[in-house]
Amino acid sequence: MRANDYDIVVIGAGVAGLNAAIAAARHGARTMIVDMLGAGGQVINVDRIDNFPGPAEGMSGFELGPMLQIQADEAGVEFALDMIETVSKTDTGFRIAGADLDLTAGAVIIAAGSAKRTLGIPGEAEFEGRGVSHCASCDGPLMRGKQVCIIGGGDSALDEALALVPHAARITVIHRGSRLRASAALQAKASEASNIEVRPNTIVTAIRGDGGVSAITVRDLSTGTDSDLPCHGVFVYVGLEPNTAVLGELVTLSADGRIVVDLDMQTSVRGIFAAGDIRTRSVAHLAASAGDGVTAAISAVRYLAQQDDETQQAEPRFAAATSAG
Ligand code: NAP
Repeated sequence: MRANDYDIVVIGAGVAGLNAAIAAARHGARTMIVDMLGAGGQVINVDRIDNFPGPAEGMSGFELGPMLQIQADEAGVEFALDMIETVSKTDTGFRIAGADLDLTAGAVIIAAGSAKRTLGIPGEAEFEGRGVSHCASCDGPLMRGKQVCIIGGGDSALDEALALVPHAARITVIHRGSRLRASAALQAKASEASNIEVRPNTIVTAIRGDGGVSAITVRDLSTGTDSDLPCHGVFVYVGLEPNTAVLGELVTLSADGRIVVDLDMQTSVRGIFAAGDIRTRSVAHLAASAGDGVTAAISAVRYLAQQDDETQQAEPRFAAATSAG
């Protein structure tokens, strides 16, 4: 009889979490994955992913999420929908409690990802869902023939600007730095689109309208001057905030709120691992997040095997793949 409900509970069913769960189950761990929204995570709304190993023509996030979920099912992973609220230590491992679930596990992998940062400017909350959006691929068709603004200059901003190209009349990418942060490949594609214009050294100070968005106020940071720009859709991609609230003060976080891990994805608490863009030094690319998930899973399996050795379990739970190599 095992002391815990599961060997490993994975929190978050994005690319990092699903790959962690698949690898853990394939190594013989009784694995549960929990997510409040379902499988896929942040990429579920991405129109085209072309930097994940796989088909040369790329794939959509809508295809990738279910594909990984099927692999997880086949590996024997159990799946639950819930919002996990706390993770705490017990004598035999960890307790993971949510709105409905109350589970125990020998090890936990945190792959809860990040949420999109907001601008915190007047009009942003007021017009949310009425012109202000964080999903260009969902709302693109509503912007047919319109002038839209994308705020941010990273990969997310350009990915989503490109998703709007077939719909919007004019797309203005507004970013505060002097150089875009997005990859060279995305910048090259954006420069080929005749309806994308990029405005560097600019911030947005207000979103205005009546019923829906009609304009934004922008500040040119090189001159300090404010002006109005007509626009009917505002898509905000100004970076990510890690979803670490669930951990309270259980593990050590970096100054920017990410979970500090070592090369094995081990956090400051033995038995808790982290994977994906919630961890320090993540490059936040899907392929890297998938790799993090596998590393975290194998580290968790090794940790549990060590625990078995230390407590001299009569029946070791993992037959293989536990040497630290
Ligand atoms: P990000 O890389 O942090 O970029 C945020 C962008 O928003 C920067 O250009 C930043 O300018 C700008 N910004 C921040 N606050 C602003 C403001 N108030 N007004 C105007 N501009 C503002 O965020 P992200 O694009 O969401 O990407 C996050 C991570 O996920 C990155 O590591 C990225 O590579 C990864 N990602 C990868 C893919 C992919 O592989 N296809 C897709 C999406 C995201 P500054 O430069 O001045 O800070």
